[in-house]
Amino acid sequence: MSEAPERTRDEVAVMLAILCTHTDQIRHTLHPTAQGAALVEEVLRAARTGADVATPLHTLDAILQSLGDAHGVYAYAETSGPHTYTCGVASAGSGARGLHLAGIDSARPGEADYRCPAGLCARSWRPDPASPVPTCHVTAQPLRRTPRT
Ligand SMILES: [Zn+2]
Repeated sequence: MSEAPERTRDEVAVMLAILCTHTDQIRHTLHPTAQGAALVEEVLRAARTGADVATPLHTLDAILQSLGDAHGVYAYAETSGPHTYTCGVASAGSGARGLHLAGIDSARPGEADYRCPAGLCARSWRPDPASPVPTCHVTAQPLRRTPRT
């Protein structure tokens, strides 16, 4: 209803993955705005319950931009490090720097990554022996080990 369909579905999954990964940072940024703080919970709840995520997510994105993060949610994406935000669509192209949207996985065949336990977001975490397995903020459960196919 609220957003154009297919194009934004992957975008939403990637943005949700960034939010899932950096919930605390984004919460912190939004803290001064009452609406923004509530929006984080609204997006996570919507994702959890299967409600419309795109609308609150885009509002959240707009608030972040109004607070000075020119790239909104994308400003929080790691450009290096163990996290990627993979949307499983081959036609996504190379995407923004550090956003491994698709097709880059072939560089590490056979390796297992950790992903959103409910498959709700596009978050992917490369195992790091020095770090505990991160928690998905959408489901409040640890990321799940998922063999590459
Ligand atoms: Zn997640």
